[in-house]
Amino acid sequence: MSDTRATIYYTEDADRTAIENKTVAVLGFGSQGHAHAQNLDDSGIDVVVGLRKGSSSRAAAEDTGLEVATPAVAAEAADIVSMLVPDTVQPAVYEAIEDGLDAGDTLQFAHGFNIHYGQIEPPADVDVTMIAPKSPGHLVRRNYENGEGTPGLLAVYQNPTNEAKEEALAYAQAIGCARAGVVETTFREETETDLFGEQAVLCGGVTSLVKHSYETLVDAGYSPEMAYFECMNELKLIVDLLYEGGLAEMWNSVSDTAEYGGLTRGDRIVDDHVRDNMEETLEAVQNGEFAREWITENHAGRPSYTLHRQAEQNHDIEAVGEELRQLFAWSEESNESEDSEQERMAADD
Ligand code: NAD
Ligand code: MG
Repeated sequence: MSDTRATIYYTEDADRTAIENKTVAVLGFGSQGHAHAQNLDDSGIDVVVGLRKGSSSRAAAEDTGLEVATPAVAAEAADIVSMLVPDTVQPAVYEAIEDGLDAGDTLQFAHGFNIHYGQIEPPADVDVTMIAPKSPGHLVRRNYENGEGTPGLLAVYQNPTNEAKEEALAYAQAIGCARAGVVETTFREETETDLFGEQAVLCGGVTSLVKHSYETLVDAGYSPEMAYFECMNELKLIVDLLYEGGLAEMWNSVSDTAEYGGLTRGDRIVDDHVRDNMEETLEAVQNGEFAREWITENHAGRPSYTLHRQAEQNHDIEAVGEELRQLFAWSEESNESEDSEQERMAADD
């Protein structure tokens, strides 16, 4: 195993006094914001939610009984400013709160893009940290309420107070992450691996694999319905197995025929050429080419993004899928035993 293994921190490593008497401004009340704000509040930390006047999230935030102010007022009052608005609007929100960052305050993120690519440049006397739960916010909230934790990442970008890491760890404890484990990383590593992962596998690679395989079957004369089932629908069953028990659980759960076919054909489909493409994709993340492209795209009103989105929506697999998914209406109510029944069926194919 490589010698770059990360350090993982837990509850016993966190010192509550590092955050206890501080006020946290949570900017944004979306997926992450609502979870951080309420978990911090339930942990007895002083919280003020920062939202624009007229923000659609205001009512939801006020309903929880939390104090709500504009981002600028919230940041002024706070020692720790948690930047939980969408990444593309963070630079504009930062301009509005910049004056509220005093020497020794902390600017905290849940993703490193804007710091790593220089879209936000905080003053040198402010700590800059990251606590990034590895789950959507509703799970961060639900797990906390159930007394459980959500794994998270911790990074320190700048540390003029020499207390940035202790404070970030205490924050991670207060939102429940340290109960599960907090993996130490850097802004660079988090940002670059996150972008690469979503491009190469999670969002880009997987959808292209699905579309190409679907088209291959349909072009060869098979029905779109069968192509949809084989190339898209069953992916969930496989991903669930990978998630639960890694490669081994998946290989153990499918038939010997599926295992032999997969083991011998996988590398023919995703061959060295794809590996070269992955390296190129990673390079564009590392040298900032992708970030520049995405920032320019946003400034221009997202013309290319819109076209790609439309093409994706118009792909045949979407129309077929919409019809076929209705056959699975029962799955909404599916319980554990039905899930495992499905897994057994997948394994038999
Ligand atoms: P979100 O889109 O769910 O929430 C956005 C919030 O920001 C809303 O409350 C909205 O009202 C507010 N907002 C939108 N535009 C605004 C503006 N111009 N000014 C002020 N407020 C505005 O965002 P999210 O998914 O929670 O992402 C927040 C951060 O967390 C991002 O850095 C993201 O990368 C990171 N993150 C998200 C997840 C996730 O699963 N969603 C996981 C880990 C990290
Ligand atoms: Mg302040």
